[in-house]
Amino acid sequence: MITDIVKSIDAQAQKHLKTVFFDEMGETHTYQELLDCSNSLAAWLDDKKIVPAKGPIMFYGDHQFEIVTGFVGAVKAGHAYIPVETGSALPRMQSIINTAHPRLVIAIDDFPVDKLDYDGAVINKFELQQIFAQKSSYTPDHEVLGDDPFYILFTSGTTGSPKGVPISHTNICSFANWMRGDDFNIPAEQVYLGQTPFSFDVSHMYWLNAVLSGGTIKAIPLKVVQNFGQLFKILPNLGINVFVGTPSFGEMLLLSPDFNETKMPDLKYFLFCGEELTPSTVKRLFQRFPKAHIFNTYGPTEAAVAITSCEITKDMAKNLKRLPIGYDKPGVTTSIWKDGKEVTTPGEHGEIIIAGDSVAPHGYLNNPAKTAKNFFKLNGVQAYRTGDAGFIAKDGSRHIIGRMDFQIKLHGFRVELDEVRSSLEMSQYIKQAVAVPKYNRNHQATHLIAYVIAQPNDFASERELTQAIRASLKDKIMDYMMPTQFVYVDSFPTSANGKIAVKQMIAEANK
Ligand code: AMP
Repeated sequence: MITDIVKSIDAQAQKHLKTVFFDEMGETHTYQELLDCSNSLAAWLDDKKIVPAKGPIMFYGDHQFEIVTGFVGAVKAGHAYIPVETGSALPRMQSIINTAHPRLVIAIDDFPVDKLDYDGAVINKFELQQIFAQKSSYTPDHEVLGDDPFYILFTSGTTGSPKGVPISHTNICSFANWMRGDDFNIPAEQVYLGQTPFSFDVSHMYWLNAVLSGGTIKAIPLKVVQNFGQLFKILPNLGINVFVGTPSFGEMLLLSPDFNETKMPDLKYFLFCGEELTPSTVKRLFQRFPKAHIFNTYGPTEAAVAITSCEITKDMAKNLKRLPIGYDKPGVTTSIWKDGKEVTTPGEHGEIIIAGDSVAPHGYLNNPAKTAKNFFKLNGVQAYRTGDAGFIAKDGSRHIIGRMDFQIKLHGFRVELDEVRSSLEMSQYIKQAVAVPKYNRNHQATHLIAYVIAQPNDFASERELTQAIRASLKDKIMDYMMPTQFVYVDSFPTSANGKIAVKQMIAEANK
C-alpha cells in the first residue's frame, strides 16, 4: 500500500534504475535520471528558497521529461505543481497567476512573461537542465503529505474564469492505490501512452501509474497528436500496453487502419475517462482488439481524476444502450440527490454527489463563494456536488445521464441531450452524433439539431441519408426527442482536454 507518493516513486526508481522511464519520440530518460534530476531540483528549491514553504510552482510546457521530473522534484521539496499547457490563452494564464500566486514558473517552452502581469521568478529549460546537472544526494524529509496540496489543477470550462482545485496528497494517494489495485489489475512495468496533456488531471492515470510501478511513458508531443498522419505512423511502433485517454481520442485512433491487434499486439488495457464512453466505440474497439480490457472511469477534477470504474464487457457493449460508469472506488461513496433529499429508489434520477477521501479537502483555491456552492460536508465527510445527473441501478452500478445543464425543456418535455445523442447513435447510419438545442429570443428551446458523423454510405444526397436515419430510429427514439435538423460533419470540435466541446457547439448553433 502506498502511503507516501514521493517515497514510493523513489523506491520504484531505485528498483528500476536502468529502465526507460520517459521516451519522447525516441529521446529516452531512465529512472536513474528521474531520481537524480528530481533530487537536484528539490535540493535547489530548498537551498534558494524562492518559493515559500508549501507554496506552488507553475510548470509551463508540453509532454517533456523535464516537466514530469520537475513535478516529482517539486513535491519532494514540499511544493505543489500547477501544470499549464504550452500555448494556453493569456487570460487563462493570468487568471491562474492571480489565483495561485506562484513565485516560480518553470518553463520548458517559451513562456510569454512579457505579456503577463507576473513578478515572480522564471526558469527556462536550459536553466532547469543546469540545475538537474548539479548532482546532489537528497533525502526527502518535508515532502508533500496529508492534506497538503500535491497539485493544483485549473478547470477547463469554456466560460468564466478557471477555478483552481488543490488536490491533496491524501486524495492522490487514495487514487494511486486504487489504480494499482485489483479493480484494474494492471501489471507492473507496462508501457503507457502519454497523450493526455499534463494540464488535464487524467494524465495522472498514465504518469503516476507508470512511475509507481516501474513503467515507461511513451510521450506524444501536442503537435504530433494534432497531426493524424504522423500520429498514425508512429503509433504501431511504440509497443504500448496501456491506452489512457478520452473516448474522443479513442475514436480518433480508430480512424487509423493500423490501430488493431495485429499491428499493436502489446496493447491490452484501455482506460477511458472524461466523457461518455459509448457502446459503439467499445464495439469497434473489441473488433480491433478482441482480448482487450476496457475500463470506463468517471470523475471530476474536484475529486482527483476518477472515482468510479468498471470493466466493459462485449455483452455490455452489445446489449446496453448506455454504459455504466461502474462502482465507487474504495474511500468514496457516490449518492443521488434530488430536491435536497437522498434518492434511495434504484433507477431514480438526481444529481450525483461524491463524498470521501478523493474530494478536494478545501474546495477551490481562493474562491470561497464557489467553494460554498459546490462543496459541503455529508455526514461529516467532504463532499462535492458534481452537476451531473445520474442514477444507481438495482445492482449498485452507477450511471451518468449527462450534465444537469444539458437538460432542456422542449415543448414541455424534459429532454437530456446525451440521451438524444445515444439514441441517435443506435442508427446503423450514424458513427457519432451530438444533439444541440436551438433557442428562440426568450431562451426557450424550439427544436433540436443533430450534428452527425455518418457511417460510410451510398445515399445520393444528405436528404436521403436523413430519411434513412429517421426510418432506422422510428422505434428507438421518442417523437419529441427526434431532431428536426440534421447537419453532417467530418469531426466535432474538441476542448484542450480532448473532449467534444458540446457547450461551444451549442453557442455556435445559437449565434
Ligand atoms: P473534468 O473535471 O474536466 O474532468 O470533467 C468532469 C466531468 O466530465 C464530469 O463531471 C462528467 O460530466 C464528465 N465525465 C467524466 N467521466 C465521464 C464518463 N466516464 N462518462 C460520462 N461523463 C464523464
